[in-house]
Amino acid sequence: MLEKRNVYRLPWSMNDNPIAWIEVTDICDIHCEGCYRQHLTGHKPLEQLKEEVQFFLRWRNPDNFSIAGGEPLLHPHIVDLVAHIAAQGVKPVILTNGRALTPPLLRELKKAGLAGFTMHIDSHQNRPQWRGKNEKELNELRQMYAEMVAAEGGLYLVFNATVYPSTFHEIPDVLSWGCRNIEKVQGLVFITYRTATLADTVATDAYDRRVDLGRLSYTRQQFDEHFVTSPEVYQIIKEHLPEYEASGYLGGSIRHDSYKWLIGALVGSRHGIYGSVGKRTMELAQTAHHLWTGRYLAYLSTAKIGSKIFWLSGWDATLRQAWKRWFKDVLRRPWRALDRVYLQSIGIIQAPDLLPDGRADMCDSCPDITIYDGKFVNSCRMDEYRLFGGFLSVVKGKQKASG
Ligand code: SF4
Repeated sequence: MLEKRNVYRLPWSMNDNPIAWIEVTDICDIHCEGCYRQHLTGHKPLEQLKEEVQFFLRWRNPDNFSIAGGEPLLHPHIVDLVAHIAAQGVKPVILTNGRALTPPLLRELKKAGLAGFTMHIDSHQNRPQWRGKNEKELNELRQMYAEMVAAEGGLYLVFNATVYPSTFHEIPDVLSWGCRNIEKVQGLVFITYRTATLADTVATDAYDRRVDLGRLSYTRQQFDEHFVTSPEVYQIIKEHLPEYEASGYLGGSIRHDSYKWLIGALVGSRHGIYGSVGKRTMELAQTAHHLWTGRYLAYLSTAKIGSKIFWLSGWDATLRQAWKRWFKDVLRRPWRALDRVYLQSIGIIQAPDLLPDGRADMCDSCPDITIYDGKFVNSCRMDEYRLFGGFLSVVKGKQKASG
């Protein structure tokens, strides 16, 4: 059973966080149902982006830059930005839907110093040629990108998918595909869908003036379904893959019982999954990386770790189970001792929850903070700043005079 005391609370904070989320454009070439960004301003100039890089280096202490959007591959200076970030000694990672990715661009980005991709693919994206496909069918598209990135080599690849009530039961299909491709896929992330409903809702800005909530992209007239939670995603993964265990978490900014980020790492080879790393290994990884480099850790090139991870199984009970399964397997088939062992991270993110009093339960120590107007702002709610100058208060059925 998922209990906070059994999972390591990641030590990340506002000013010491491994992730810097830099948005290069708000233009995109598809429309995802769960997207929280709309086209208002277009591509940012390269000089502005370089200033933002310096701001993050000064105030965030990042280990990697998540280059996001919009669709960052559409930015005309994406290769220059990657090269600029890599030159600062920090890992550039591109968050993309993949549509603009070609083998020549991939080669150019790698040469510029790219560390890897987080690729967003799910069945609510309105992708031309892939409309109406379910998550299992979309594994064909995931496979195509996995082969393309693996063919170039030396880059890590994480796939993320937004989880809707209607696609929740399809999580095992994506998970099974990921496990079969553990040599090529370094991580999977499941992000639970959230929306604010307009019916019977009053939204006010920081000056208590009533505003039109419908101008935000993350609103719907009505949503009567049950929002999927992180513990539910954890549970369905666990039922499908008992070897899975979570090892790190971030809680909610308001609710004590939220799991906003839940991170785990599977240990396996091309023959199957042996188990997971436990909370002690996660704690050691964060602490040792911070001692060694001065920064916490978000992405790891797992190919370099291989079977060495088992050296830690002596002090990590969860990892010990993985080692035992690996050892039994090797006793039966000794040649498998030569097979490479990989790590594959499994992330679960529960997007902000609107509480009845108008506040939102956000991710405690939000890793996806970005810059708006010289200040850090949670990227998932930045459009409230861009459209209304600050966060909104949203209350159901509230009677209030408009300002
Ligand atoms: S609060 Fe931060 S980490 Fe959480 S969903 Fe929003 S942007 Fe992402």
